[in-house]
Amino acid sequence: MYDLLIVGSGPGGYVAAIRAGQYGLKVGVIEKQPKLGGVCLHVGCIPTKALLYTADVYELFLHPQDLGISCDNVQLDWARVQERKSKIVDKHAKGVEALFKKNKVETIRGYARLKGAGRIEVEGPDGRHELSAKNIILATGSEARMLPGLTVDRDRILTNIEILDLKSIPKSLAIIGAGAVGVEFASIYRRFGSEVTVFEMLPRAVPLEDEEISAELERAFRKQKITVHTGTRVEKVEKRQDCVSIEFRDSTGRAQNICAEKLLVAVGRKPNTENIGLENTAIKADRGFIPVDQWMATAEPGVYAIGDIVAASPQLAHVASMEGLVAVGRVAGKPGRPVNYRRVPNCTFCEPQIGSAGLTEAQAKAQGYEVKAGKFPFAANSKSSILGNHSGFVKVVADAKFGEILGVHIIGPSATELIAEAVTAMESEATVESMMSTIHAHPTLAEAMGDAFNTVYGLAINV
Ligand SMILES: Cc1cc2nc3c(=O)[nH]c(=O)nc-3n(C[C@H](O)[C@H](O)[C@H](O)COP(=O)(O)OP(=O)(O)OC[C@H]3O[C@@H](n4cnc5c(N)ncnc54)[C@H](O)[C@@H]3O)c2cc1C
Repeated sequence: MYDLLIVGSGPGGYVAAIRAGQYGLKVGVIEKQPKLGGVCLHVGCIPTKALLYTADVYELFLHPQDLGISCDNVQLDWARVQERKSKIVDKHAKGVEALFKKNKVETIRGYARLKGAGRIEVEGPDGRHELSAKNIILATGSEARMLPGLTVDRDRILTNIEILDLKSIPKSLAIIGAGAVGVEFASIYRRFGSEVTVFEMLPRAVPLEDEEISAELERAFRKQKITVHTGTRVEKVEKRQDCVSIEFRDSTGRAQNICAEKLLVAVGRKPNTENIGLENTAIKADRGFIPVDQWMATAEPGVYAIGDIVAASPQLAHVASMEGLVAVGRVAGKPGRPVNYRRVPNCTFCEPQIGSAGLTEAQAKAQGYEVKAGKFPFAANSKSSILGNHSGFVKVVADAKFGEILGVHIIGPSATELIAEAVTAMESEATVESMMSTIHAHPTLAEAMGDAFNTVYGLAINV
């Protein structure tokens, strides 16, 4: 009898398992894939960021003259780019295995289904067997959603999985969906030389971000010659011998058509809850997502859910991990705090990068706050000039009454790193005033954060 069985070894499941081991619980993780680490490590966060880093460096080498360097005959060795990406992934998969050993976490290979209170059936390489546990955490993650009538074919119609293993760089790439996954792949392949066209049904790219962030990204993409069709419905996709034909109706209602060598479908993620035995429990999924309380407990006593399968939770690796820690704390009877979803860093690693946390200006107004917002452009930050990258801004959304920081929205260089300061400030309930008195080193990109907090009261020095 285990104290805890966890289904899935993604950033939700593996982090929860290690913490359970640290607490001295008898813990096992059931994983259907041969390697540990989940979507995040194998076909999500890590391989995409490895490719994005190569794209950043490649771009620098393509335009070295600005830095006073001449560099002829710059070549991209695609096979080695892919090899580097795979090495990083493998290294970290082995790292998870080693951490499991260190923390006495047992790995159980196979496909898991709930059989009822405290019982899981595992279909593994050696057949079926049943395990029992005092507590269970479901961390089964998600997979790419498909559009009705479309099937992935590994050749032309791709998801995040197939597009990571292309044998060569496509001449042209169409992407349906301008959320985080869509715009990151647009940034990768555009800089490797593909012609990229992005389709988004909603009126703006990265539609969950503050409106000014979407406008800035669309502007930057136009400059990079990435075509973005927002407010656009893709009506027909047809595989031809040498391309994929995409018929769409643009925002003015005009019917149009393009042909692309490859099509990436990035229209959201479907929770993996269909065949995991929920019918044998009291859990009632809501469009596939599992409702939980603040401690990640489901309607079935002793069964918790974390990560991409949780209803109303952002599908992010670090959220999955924190939810895992909250659930294990509960299982082990330790004092803890529920996840505060208003303090989640949302990072999109497109070029320019986006980092945001808390409420957008529109959301803050809709919630009845008297909003005071300030915006500081990277164009006025000296480190941005040194880096030769001054697109974008830092925007602070604050409550006029008490100076509470309601949201911070960054687009520009290292935005995904800078957002950490905003989250720390919000977590420690710092006000705009206290951030105005926080000393930021010079010359750094972080200075733009200090300046942005000052802009809320019209007191920024550098603009
Ligand atoms: C292209 C892409 C890029 C992304 N980039 C980022 C990023 O930069 N930052 C970020 O925070 N998030 C990113 N994400 C999202 C992130 O990957 C997910 O939010 C995260 O992986 C969710 O973690 P999880 O533990 O819930 O599930 P997953 O990582 O999906 O892991 C679930 C695990 O459960 C296993 N499993 C499922 N069902 C069963 C079963 N019945 N029995 C046994 N095992 C089972 C699966 O094999 C898998 O290993 C990205 C996603 C994609 C697709």
